[in-house]
Amino acid sequence: MSDSSARGAANAVTLIRDARHWQTGERIERAFANGQVLERAPAAPDRVIEAGGAILAPGLVDLHVHLREPGQTAKETIESGARAAAAGGFTSVACMPNTKPVLDSVAWIEWVRHRAEKALCRVLPIAAVTVGQEGAQLTEFVALERAGAVALSDDGRPIMNAGLMRHALEYAKQTRLPIVVHEEDLTLRGDGAMNEGLTATRLGIRGIPAAAESVMVRRDVELAELTQGRVHFAHLSCKASFDALRDGKARGLRVSGETCPHYWMLTDEAVADYDTRAKMNPPLRSDLDREATVEAIADGTIDCFVTDHAPHTEDEKRQPFDQAPFGIVGLETALALTIAGLVRPGHLSLSRALELWTEAPRRVFGLPEVSIEPGSPADLVLFDPELEWTVDTSRFASRGRNTPFDGWRLSGRVLATFCGGQQTFALEGAPAEARA
Ligand SMILES: [Zn+2]
Repeated sequence: MSDSSARGAANAVTLIRDARHWQTGERIERAFANGQVLERAPAAPDRVIEAGGAILAPGLVDLHVHLREPGQTAKETIESGARAAAAGGFTSVACMPNTKPVLDSVAWIEWVRHRAEKALCRVLPIAAVTVGQEGAQLTEFVALERAGAVALSDDGRPIMNAGLMRHALEYAKQTRLPIVVHEEDLTLRGDGAMNEGLTATRLGIRGIPAAAESVMVRRDVELAELTQGRVHFAHLSCKASFDALRDGKARGLRVSGETCPHYWMLTDEAVADYDTRAKMNPPLRSDLDREATVEAIADGTIDCFVTDHAPHTEDEKRQPFDQAPFGIVGLETALALTIAGLVRPGHLSLSRALELWTEAPRRVFGLPEVSIEPGSPADLVLFDPELEWTVDTSRFASRGRNTPFDGWRLSGRVLATFCGGQQTFALEGAPAEARA
């Protein structure tokens, strides 16, 4: 413990000593005060954190989380979700509008922003594309942008009507907001509950073909061309979708895409014993799709990572497989799963992996730049890529415990997170924990 104190005042200077630069690996120190990284450390900082060679990076950004507020606070709240984000090294999260009620008006966007003022990370609301996410009437895009929405999405549902999707893309051009699409042809999904394939057949569970996702990605690549609109593809999970996105990019269209750790870590075999913790939408796919996910990340087809953090109560997940809700939590395991699935096997360098959680998502949504250099907002994460730990959902800050990674031994742990210069997380026992 080597923490010489004085938190309190906003103008107090914190010095992080003996950290490693997330890009260059060189030994650095950084001081910050008033929410900003300083040009140089003063001779007598108010607080010193000995990083012991841990990596210092810009705070992580997650463009796709479900905070469940308003309406479903037993699953998660803005407060608990933001605390989980801080524990995972995130300083900004964009929250999806499929709450109850739906975030489809200026009043609800303002409500979320107000509610998030004291939260432990920046919460950026995404507004619905259609009123009530009912797929019929477009919301007021321009007013929603002015109210602070960072994107538009009917996530949780596809926009099945192609004509409406065309109008949405044209109307959104009056704003800087991307349309974030949850791609799923409902006529192909039917009442499927997991990936269509051998495992589903063996378990007697109705399957969802990968084409339910990819035919919609193909459609929206075509509509991006027709409208010259801006499309961002949410949680892509299968080879044919990556191929469609790759094709759209090659044609110079304004398209981008994201994927999540579970798609590079797992296949549909994780459902083996009717484990509802492996039930998500899009579903875990075949090993061929898992390999294609890694390839699409490595070759730059995928623009950024997201968690699709989707908390549910234990009672809901304890239902029979068919009836249990789709979704897993992801904020507190994201970084370690990135190291386990991508960095350790040599698919990505650590700095590139971090970029996909920091600068890359900022570019996708046009968010202000954050770095660890002087003048930047002090949104920072200090983490140890070698530190081993066991995932224990009973210790999660999230109200959600629904993850198939419970009990996994992983390496890579966040030691401390700072948002706007304020410490929002400290790992128990880590040097950055002790406080004034
Ligand atoms: Zn979705």
